[in-house]
Amino acid sequence: MSTRVLVTGATGFIAGHVIVELLDHGYAVRGTVRDLADSGKRAHLVEYAARVGGDLDFVAADLNRDAGWAAAVAGCTQVLHVASPFPATPPDDESELIRTAVDGTLRVLTACADSPAVRRVVLTSSTAAIAHGHHDDAVRTEADWTVIERSPAYQRSKTLAERAAWEFADALPVARELDLVVVNPGMVLGPLLSPETSTSHEPVRRLLAGAVPGLPRVGWSVVDVRDLAVAHRLAMENPRAAGNRYICAGEHVWMRDMAELLAAEFGPRGFRIATRGLPDRLVRLVAVFDRGLRLTVPALGRVERVSADRARRELGWTMRPVRETVRDTADSLLRQRIVAPPRRASAPGGRAVSAAEA
Ligand code: NDP
Repeated sequence: MSTRVLVTGATGFIAGHVIVELLDHGYAVRGTVRDLADSGKRAHLVEYAARVGGDLDFVAADLNRDAGWAAAVAGCTQVLHVASPFPATPPDDESELIRTAVDGTLRVLTACADSPAVRRVVLTSSTAAIAHGHHDDAVRTEADWTVIERSPAYQRSKTLAERAAWEFADALPVARELDLVVVNPGMVLGPLLSPETSTSHEPVRRLLAGAVPGLPRVGWSVVDVRDLAVAHRLAMENPRAAGNRYICAGEHVWMRDMAELLAAEFGPRGFRIATRGLPDRLVRLVAVFDRGLRLTVPALGRVERVSADRARRELGWTMRPVRETVRDTADSLLRQRIVAPPRRASAPGGRAVSAAEA
């Protein structure tokens, strides 16, 4: 196979897995990075490509600048636009976040439209563009759109960027055979390929590190990053996917369920994982002082029900069980030394104890 595929934001968590999936299937891949001088941020991908004999190169391009995008897409037949800011705390300037997401998407699409070789763009959107701001708990499908006026900045950024992408694609002349496919993941967990974490690792990281005293009543529809990478490849390859959105997410999982999974798996290894709930009132109060918790407040009690039936049916996509995803996320946080294992000492009678007990 000799076609080259462009993946934007190669240093990111999801894009890294997408690149691995593409290399594993024989594609030549080009990744965009913001800073070519920072070779450390992509070293894991260079090593992987060398190990499997894959063809991988990198170019510099920033979503906030025009420069670089024409050169990035040159010679590529498919473009997977994954990059977008995903802040862990509410941004100081919401309009800057939204501008980067929307204008960046339009920059990538404009470069694609101007480059005759490009036939398909796969955009990584989110269930954040589908399931927010609704007044009821109905199961959301690809027919639904987030209600902008009732949604926080990140959700608005993903919704507006995806809408802009569809408007752009709809306005293309029919003669320009370029189609758009959108993948809408839920909360993405799974193993890290490098020590860089994504915002979505925070709940598991904090639980494993014993950094949460109790559990806010929040939850997510989770998808494993390895399954999501497969979904991106299928969305890119399947001719029938043109013009479609595909939700990639499983059932809603409360943080409490996640904590119980982790406690069962890692408790016996000396990790102290909180499994007690926190009253909403307390979370709201603490969030006044804790910026990291502020994004949690609008999500209190919210159940995200989305259906991935279309991806299963049309792409033949499957998902692994959430238990495996949560366990592998935690294992990789330990392997990448993002969370330290508990110090264990031998207690009288040979019982192993954690540092906290010792
Ligand atoms: P990461 O934070 O790991 O990756 C984000 C990537 O976007 C990084 O490569 C980053 O580059 C790049 N980026 C950010 N701003 C710019 C910019 N101005 N110009 C160029 N590149 C930029 O996040 P994820 O991998 O988790 O997310 C990737 C995509 O998936 C995003 O579009 C996100 O909205 C979407 N998504 C993520 C979900 C999740 O749970 N993780 C859920 C649903 C959707 P750099 O390394 O230079 O910062």
